[in-house]
Amino acid sequence: MRRFRVSLAALILPLLAACATDRQVIEQASSAHDQLDPAVVKDPEMVAYIQAMGTRIVDQARELHEQNYGPKAHFKEDADWMFSDAVQFHFVNSKTLNAFTTGGEHMYIYTELLKTCRTEDELAAVMAHEYAHIYGRHVGKGMDRRYWNLGGALALGVGGYALGGKKHGLEYGTAAATLGFVGLEYIGKGFTREDEAEADELGFEFYTRAGWDPQRFGDFFQQLIDKGFDVESDAASDHPTLRSRVAAAKARASKLPPDAARYRRPPVADAARFAAMKQRAELVARTMPNDETLETAQTLLAAVASCVAPTDTPDQRAARERIKQAVEEREKAEAAPRP
Ligand SMILES: [Zn+2]
Repeated sequence: MRRFRVSLAALILPLLAACATDRQVIEQASSAHDQLDPAVVKDPEMVAYIQAMGTRIVDQARELHEQNYGPKAHFKEDADWMFSDAVQFHFVNSKTLNAFTTGGEHMYIYTELLKTCRTEDELAAVMAHEYAHIYGRHVGKGMDRRYWNLGGALALGVGGYALGGKKHGLEYGTAAATLGFVGLEYIGKGFTREDEAEADELGFEFYTRAGWDPQRFGDFFQQLIDKGFDVESDAASDHPTLRSRVAAAKARASKLPPDAARYRRPPVADAARFAAMKQRAELVARTMPNDETLETAQTLLAAVASCVAPTDTPDQRAARERIKQAVEEREKAEAAPRP
């Protein structure tokens, strides 16, 4: 128990740094990835597809970087790693409608989101937005306050896993992850409103230059509005409303110079292949080995704050509740006298 506490402290302390270095963010993102990996889709066709899309986005970001485009935070450290092959988009097998990034080399697009996208443009807009969180170093900026708490929780899970050994590894890992979750007050709040708005702004540039239709950047958010996801913003919510995001996207598209048309390219997948990809996601979800590590990864994925909708969905709240209960059970078990 004592060793366990010491490890927790060792893992939490770096998180308190006011503004993390890229190295810290990348390392913690990598630990988090180990925990989420069981839910990552390994199907070669789907991997090739998301990587082809990602490459288009990252290539344009690199060009803009060379033109000194971006917020101050983007230029505070060397950014070469952001344009390397190590930076990857992943489809993850999850029934939650979301996408997120841990700010290092990994971005996660949930299969439910893929299935919800009507066109490749909608998917590309979300991907460009996620990459923009990396480009703007939003996770490092937030490491002292909110979003990163999830990454911290995932890193703690890995720490617990190592400590628990083979037999109890998963149980300990889950408990440690949950301790990170519940102990930190901001879990579920996600990025700040400013960071979300900035990710839309940067993402729009990457997306447009990568060849997708600028008029369609806001389509996915419009779809969510049509499905009733939008809510009036209130003081408690740090998320921008979907309506404001759609309006900003339309305004940006209308302000593009006429020669922006030269950026347009055909999508990576035509409509038929895109539809096939969505079907493939269903098949992959059904055939993925269903064990405890997948369940843990999916619970963590479900608990993550939304990057696409201003309110949490019932499954997101349920995942957080499950985690909370697991912690309480764990605490009870630890308090009980040992035989
Ligand atoms: Zn976001």
